[in-house]
Amino acid sequence: MAAVLSFARRNFINNSGGPFAAGVFERETGKLVVIGVNRVMEYGCSSAHAEIMALSLAQKMLGTYDLGAKGLPAHELVVNWRPCAMCFGAVLWSGVRGLTIAGAGPELEEITGFDEGPIVPLWREELERRGIELKEDVLRDEAVAVYEEFAASQNVVYNARQGNE
Ligand SMILES: [Zn+2]
Repeated sequence: MAAVLSFARRNFINNSGGPFAAGVFERETGKLVVIGVNRVMEYGCSSAHAEIMALSLAQKMLGTYDLGAKGLPAHELVVNWRPCAMCFGAVLWSGVRGLTIAGAGPELEEITGFDEGPIVPLWREELERRGIELKEDVLRDEAVAVYEEFAASQNVVYNARQGNE
């Protein structure tokens, strides 16, 4: 998570995207497969969230759409907050066996103004039902500090139509 937070911070400081990063790791060894950062602004692509980037890159590198495929080590996605409505679906389809997040509360939206969308209310239960182990509140204070630094930086909050109806 410390590495993920470092990339999240560097991403907005370098003006290459929002304050979000995600890493795919091997669960047993902790070996990093790849880290992805938010590229919405840079790519002009509303779906280029960190989780989508990391999962897509990992699947491309490993040559499979299923990170839980037979013969592969189990993988885990580490993200600097609970995935948004879109990325939650991407986590479910990715084949990862674990999701580790820095937090899940309203702080991200309150501090930064980013719209995370309508997450399914029973998202924790859904992960469990699909055999994806959830770990929460990993380096939570450090993650919040990155969002506070982002908010103070006056960087662009790129919600489509400013998140309005
Ligand atoms: Zn997302």
